[in-house]
Amino acid sequence: LPPQTSRVPLRPAVAALPAYVPGARLAPGSSAFKLSSNENPYPPPAAVVAAVVDAAADTNRYPDMYATDLTEALATDLGVDASQVVVGNGSVAVLAHILSAVVDAGDEVVYPWRSFEAYPIAVAVAGGTSARVPVTQDGRLDLPAMAAAISDRTRVVLVCTPNNPTGPVVHAGELATFLASVPGDVLVVLDEAYLEFVRDPQAPDGLAVLAAHPNVVLLRTLSKAYGLAGLRVGYAVAEPALAAGVRAVSTPFGVSHVAQRAALAALSVKDELLERVEHLVSRRERLVEGLRDQGWDLPETQANFVWFPLGGPTAELAAGASAAGLLVRPFAGEGIRVSVGEEEATEAFLKVAAGWR
Ligand code: PMP
Repeated sequence: LPPQTSRVPLRPAVAALPAYVPGARLAPGSSAFKLSSNENPYPPPAAVVAAVVDAAADTNRYPDMYATDLTEALATDLGVDASQVVVGNGSVAVLAHILSAVVDAGDEVVYPWRSFEAYPIAVAVAGGTSARVPVTQDGRLDLPAMAAAISDRTRVVLVCTPNNPTGPVVHAGELATFLASVPGDVLVVLDEAYLEFVRDPQAPDGLAVLAAHPNVVLLRTLSKAYGLAGLRVGYAVAEPALAAGVRAVSTPFGVSHVAQRAALAALSVKDELLERVEHLVSRRERLVEGLRDQGWDLPETQANFVWFPLGGPTAELAAGASAAGLLVRPFAGEGIRVSVGEEEATEAFLKVAAGWR
């Protein structure tokens, strides 16, 4: 759509929002592989499809506003109390709710950059001010610099681990040092969207971190490892009082009945889904090894994607991949992010990358 001037003036922060550029979509009937949104390439298991079909019969009714069964199932799975879990329509919505529960006009939110592109938007919409801290040369979060960026106005720090789009995790030791320096009334959001793909033994145990630090909230999703991106289910785990605040500002009935039932079904076949994640992790390792053998210098990745910090030739490589039937995610002038998808897609991408060496 062409830019238009609204007759009713938009809030200046909204008028100035950066665009959220979604990963390229497949054209109808296309045989290309979609590696542009860090999705799970496996279609949902039969139990999930059956739950969706079954739940469709109740769509004349509002869903359970607090997703009670799902909240309890998640709490049981995590070994926490249900009062600590808040479900929302995608973890991106849960993040928006966390920020609107905590951030007042002009408050600062510290986060790494480059990181998840929803962060600057969510912060501005909540009325906050962004304090971005560059990631290191090798795509890692610079936790000492993030600690140094905390001011009297800082209310929240976002820690994306693994970091989207660069890939590395923070290590438990550096996170402990960081948390020791964060004032107890500053909220630290550990965005663990890609948690299930992490194999680095140095990665933190989010639940243990939360147990030791009540100013931490874990942000998780069923979009990636659990393959429910299209149904929008994410959740936060926090101390009960904070969780209650997040629940209070959440969109009423935000998670559909269909999504709640599908998420419950996905949890009931968790082992099967995590076995798929194992395959995706080995595919990631093969992809990374293959690329390193070709001579590419890539940051470490613990997620279901690989980051190419290409700079200038980003658009060209993305176009080359697209011509080979692979939709990847270019970040103009910075690099491309390639999701770990189907086996054939991995092989095809290795060929495209080899052509670039
Ligand atoms: N956090 C990070 C780091 C992400 O990359 C994503 C998905 N791109 C999300 C949160 C949001 O996922 P969802 O809203 O589907 O739960």
